[in-house]
Amino acid sequence: MENEIITALPGTRDLLPEEISLWHLVEEATRKTFACYGFHEIRTPLLEAAELFARGIGGETDIVGKEMYTFMDQSGRLVSLRPEATASVVRACIQHSMHRGGEVTRLYYIGPMFRHEKKQKGRWRQFYQIGAEALGSDHPAVEAEVIEMILFFLESLGVRSRLVINSVGDGLCRPGYVLLLRESLQQHRAGLCPDCQRRADTNPLRVLDCKVESCQPIIAGLPKISDHLCEDCHRHFADVQDLLQEAGIPFAIEPRLVRGLDYYVKTAFEILSGDLGAQNALVGGGRYDGLAETLGGPRIPGFGFAMGLDRLVMILPEEIRARARRPPDLVLAHMGEAALRKALALARELRHLGYSCHLDLRGGSLKSQMRQANRLAASHVLIIGEDELARGRFLIKRMADSTQREVTREELFAYMHAERVTHEPDTGAA
Ligand code: AMP
Repeated sequence: MENEIITALPGTRDLLPEEISLWHLVEEATRKTFACYGFHEIRTPLLEAAELFARGIGGETDIVGKEMYTFMDQSGRLVSLRPEATASVVRACIQHSMHRGGEVTRLYYIGPMFRHEKKQKGRWRQFYQIGAEALGSDHPAVEAEVIEMILFFLESLGVRSRLVINSVGDGLCRPGYVLLLRESLQQHRAGLCPDCQRRADTNPLRVLDCKVESCQPIIAGLPKISDHLCEDCHRHFADVQDLLQEAGIPFAIEPRLVRGLDYYVKTAFEILSGDLGAQNALVGGGRYDGLAETLGGPRIPGFGFAMGLDRLVMILPEEIRARARRPPDLVLAHMGEAALRKALALARELRHLGYSCHLDLRGGSLKSQMRQANRLAASHVLIIGEDELARGRFLIKRMADSTQREVTREELFAYMHAERVTHEPDTGAA
């Protein structure tokens, strides 16, 4: 219909100013904490060659098989909106030879991802992730350091969470395990849900994290990958656990944790939050030592994670939410045209000094302007009436205790300066 209101697409949403202040706070905390761990930001395109994800993530995964937004562009190239960023970051690392520095390349990103998922609470089709990738070392200390960083970050935001880890083996031991799993699944085929019957053929590992009730007793009896790790994977997993323990990080081993992407080898992990409800995974990640080669590059061992930013914002505790509220430093209430002009001039000077000022350009009564100041939670209101204008003095009111005093222009600046020292906004960053 021509005049029908157009709304955002299902699974996408507008982030409105009220919520955005929380996102800013989280983003600032990310930049601060991640920099302490030597990570640098990278921004890769949202649009990539479809093949990057098909090769990197795996054609049989749900993400690539069902959820990617893929289309032919005007030049006849098959492109996809990125469903995750690890493949992009590794591509960029190869393309710019970033791994040649002789050190671990530590990169992080914050940005939107796109997956055409079934609609569900806690799942969007455009959602945001904070993620980091450490490239260039297969030492288990990489796992320990990155996981420590995430937990430190979450703690700084007052978020309670739980770490679960597993080893998914590697090219040496996983094929044998998958064969075993396949055989075992064939024996129980009739009892599996239709999705798992399909997965039993296409991607048997995915059966392990099926959530369908009727599959659970079968899954509980399937062979565990941890009993079938090769020497190298076994040692690596033991070392990761040792290092986590040394760092004082509690964790649980979850033998069914396999994650939905093909590139993972050895360590896989998730960080869960009880405050999230059914979609309780806040962070997912793992090691991907073979990914760079799959993408045509040299061997660059890597380990990384992605955290759901939408979900993180949902569970921020009240004390952090309160820090994100940034009321204006001053509301300038004005009565009459001449007072409005004076208010504009004073606000201009104050704004250039870095104070946030609000004035209602529609005018209105003093009462309505005071009501607005209350709504904005402004700490001070400057009242400019005809009388005040004539005398070159203004009334400044401290909203917390309703005290007010008369100030000249110069006194106003001194007053604001003094108040600002005591009311320095807390950025909330860790
Ligand atoms: P994944 O890339 O699937 O391992 O997801 C990593 C994290 O991103 C998850 O633990 C979620 O917190 C978040 N996430 C993944 N998919 C979505 C989605 N559709 N909507 C919101 N958050 C998501």
